[in-house]
Amino acid sequence: MVGRFSGKVAIITGSSFGIGRETALLFAKEGAKVTVTGRNEERLQGTRQALLDSGIPETNFLIVPADITTSSGQDTLISKTLERFGKLDILVNNAGASIPDSQKRTGINQGIETYEQVMRLNVQSVIEMTQKVRPHLAKSKGDIVNVSSIVALNFGWARTPYYPLAKAALDQYTRSAAIDLIHEGIRVNTVNPGVVQTGFHESATGLSSDASQKFYDDMGSNPSAIPCGFSGRPEHIAKAIAFLAHRDSSEYIIGQNIIADGGTSLVLGLHAQFPRQTKN
Ligand code: NDP
Repeated sequence: MVGRFSGKVAIITGSSFGIGRETALLFAKEGAKVTVTGRNEERLQGTRQALLDSGIPETNFLIVPADITTSSGQDTLISKTLERFGKLDILVNNAGASIPDSQKRTGINQGIETYEQVMRLNVQSVIEMTQKVRPHLAKSKGDIVNVSSIVALNFGWARTPYYPLAKAALDQYTRSAAIDLIHEGIRVNTVNPGVVQTGFHESATGLSSDASQKFYDDMGSNPSAIPCGFSGRPEHIAKAIAFLAHRDSSEYIIGQNIIADGGTSLVLGLHAQFPRQTKN
């Protein structure tokens, strides 16, 4: 395959569904060899089929079932990628979630075990993966893109405080890692999505997929929530990730965040008091 990522090898975590799946598809369509990963076999098969349906040959992708929060899962992911493709150029740390409290507690009463699970997935696994791929990316002068969230920005999030805490920590880690690693030729950057139609809301709330779709539709039709008028789709985020992962497109961007949210972070709740603005 000839394309922007021709000759590149990428690991995309959390690529069994949602934003990660779309990113794997985009990278593969643009010539990359990709390692697809996640825990759920059925979802992994869904990504496999989507790749095949897009004309990507089996030789250009590898599927590695793994729990990214475990050391053995991380090691398997990296070693199998190297074994199959011989090198690594790009790591997209996309796996993440707002893990619900097991006892349905909300706000600051959420349990410490919830805090630990959320931090382990959204921050610690990124730190560990970054440490482990460092020698390989130093060799290839590679790129890391982390997937954060607009909840990391400077406002509160009362119901589930640990998820925004984790994503804010991830943003700060991106900046520190970026300065440390650029000396070895490795770039680190972040994409912060707003509301995107994936499995995220379903797994965060336990709602059905129909109820989650209604949430995405309602948010999209509320200009006080999403000024551009629709909830994001995974490809919107995949394109931003690809821009930051592609050296020629973004070579001089180091340790930065791209906010891809349809304008959500620009509007205040105060705007909900005013009727929708219409064109004259
Ligand atoms: P999805 O729930 O659709 O996908 C999440 C992916 O992460 C799945 O592939 C899932 O795989 C994987 N994953 C979760 N936990 C683990 C684990 N322990 N080990 C391995 N893989 C895991 O959500 P999105 O695509 O929306 O989420 C992608 C990223 O985008 C996340 O970091 C999320 O925080 C961020 N984000 C999403 C927003 C949205 O509105 N959708 C908004 C802002 C940020 P599996 O189930 O197979 O384990």
